[in-house]
Amino acid sequence: MLITKPSYYYDFSCIAGSCPDSCCKEWAVQVDAASAERYRALPGALGERLREVLHTEDGETVMTIENGRCPMWRQDGLCRIQAELGEEALCKTCREFPRLTHDYGDFVEMGLELSCPEAARLILTAAPAPDIREEIPGAPEAEYDTDAMAVLKATRETALNLLAEGNRPVSETLALLLLYGCQAQGELDGDEIRPFDADAALEEATALAKSGDPQAVTDFFSGLEILTPQWEQRLKEPAYGTFSPITLALARYLTQRYWLQAVSDYDLYCRVKFILISCLLVSVLGGDPIATAQLYSKEIENNIDNVEAILDAAYAHPAFTDDRLLGMLLP
Ligand code: SF4
Repeated sequence: MLITKPSYYYDFSCIAGSCPDSCCKEWAVQVDAASAERYRALPGALGERLREVLHTEDGETVMTIENGRCPMWRQDGLCRIQAELGEEALCKTCREFPRLTHDYGDFVEMGLELSCPEAARLILTAAPAPDIREEIPGAPEAEYDTDAMAVLKATRETALNLLAEGNRPVSETLALLLLYGCQAQGELDGDEIRPFDADAALEEATALAKSGDPQAVTDFFSGLEILTPQWEQRLKEPAYGTFSPITLALARYLTQRYWLQAVSDYDLYCRVKFILISCLLVSVLGGDPIATAQLYSKEIENNIDNVEAILDAAYAHPAFTDDRLLGMLLP
């Protein structure tokens, strides 16, 4: 079975006390069943404290947040569970974060989550490079429509190559991604696979573009679930930044992560628009693009309700029609 990982995967190491954010802040950590059982059975002061702070909602056990932090977080920045019981006692979420796994049955794609500041630095500053490929014994069954997956893999590669070319302004490359996403959706629906004509697509994009409304984009995001006061503030007072190579790296990360997920419902185009909307938002908010993208990920990517709201709005919201999106990319 093939396992792929991005080229920077093994460069990640938690920067703990130097981290400008923390995965022990704001999030209510979901605790896997085996760890929850172990924690609830622990003797002594740690066990007592864990029994106080673990609670079960809809069949899932979560650690209650206290004063905006995980209650296991200590003043010295260390995790109390790890300090007293060792790293192996951490629950699955804490042991794995920020490592991501997409298991498709007969192949696995691993990555890092943008919501961790150190992972965000690696993801958004790494030059485009081939993935690390590792073969492990075993040939499990594919758990998807193999014809659709073949189209998605081929079109994702074309999209990633487009985003890695670097011979056009960033905004034009993003506009081309939208147009190519439209072609790729057609191919997923059964159209003949054909080369992408970037010059013709750019002409079409320029003709289609209508002036967009960045304020409508931030207004839409203000209506989603918000985790931190910083995010609320950033949405109220966007700094209107510009597109940069970091934006392209963000688009590559999102393309790598979400493109193949269209195998679940055959809707690739709403995911392509999700990628574009995310890149637009991060550039509209401005500030340090890596820190903005990390905060975006913490607020949006790690909240499935928010992701689904954007996927729905990709077709329905007036700010996100193709012509308006193109208008914000190709002024
Ligand atoms: S967010 Fe990332 S770098 Fe920061 S403490 Fe968590 S794993 Fe470490």
